[in-house]
Amino acid sequence: MTGRAPKPTTVFFDLDDTLFDHALTCRAALGELRRDEPGFRRLPLDRLWREYQAELHRTDQTLGYVGAPREAYDAARAERFRRLAERAGWTATEEEGWRLSRAYRRAYLRRRRPVPGAVPLVRWLARSHPVGVITNNQVAEQERKLRFLGIRGEIDPLVVSEAVGAEKPDRSIFETALRAARVRARDAVMVGDSWANDVLGARSAGIRPVWFNRFGAPRPARPAVDEIGSYRPLAGVARAVLRSGARRRTRPRGGATRVISKP
Ligand SMILES: [Mg+2]
Repeated sequence: MTGRAPKPTTVFFDLDDTLFDHALTCRAALGELRRDEPGFRRLPLDRLWREYQAELHRTDQTLGYVGAPREAYDAARAERFRRLAERAGWTATEEEGWRLSRAYRRAYLRRRRPVPGAVPLVRWLARSHPVGVITNNQVAEQERKLRFLGIRGEIDPLVVSEAVGAEKPDRSIFETALRAARVRARDAVMVGDSWANDVLGARSAGIRPVWFNRFGAPRPARPAVDEIGSYRPLAGVARAVLRSGARRRTRPRGGATRVISKP
């Protein structure tokens, strides 16, 4: 048989809680804040963490990551801490909200960490495959995280909602990524921790998703997609991700996947 060699699968990753460990960095930073601020000690750390995540989700919903200036996020964070203080049973002034926010931010930067196994996986894949990132947030913040992880050079394209003007799960951000990578949807795979943003978003653009479910969240019945719980063992996970990307079609109404061809 003649013909061109199959194009290597392009692997797109989400960034927060897929490569960069935002959740546990956040938990560690809140732990420091709780140690230093007696007012927060009334809440157990797990509760404080859950409350903070809920407030962060509210910011994401109201502010989004398209078009808002940097100052708006700083102000939103200060307001988050004022609300968090309220939930812990004390009233923080606006000024205290800013002070808590700055203390948290310092601790967050100090306690940054990768998702275990993510950095070796990206480096392993990048030796033979294009690797991109599709992420909702501000460009400068996400660039900083990738540089911290030491994998900025391996990532091309880096597609950030702030720059694109659209956020996951909007299919247009995935289509922008495909154009930037010069790849067809069927030759790409998307690995991400968010069912709504990464799994359903990628599927809407025809990209095969792999759900990174490290905390064992309940799995929605449909659509049937490949799932990984950790990045170890590295070679096995890398092969599973690439195999997933090599499947050319899915049944139109979800359900079981069908393998049309393999590389
Ligand atoms: Mg994520």
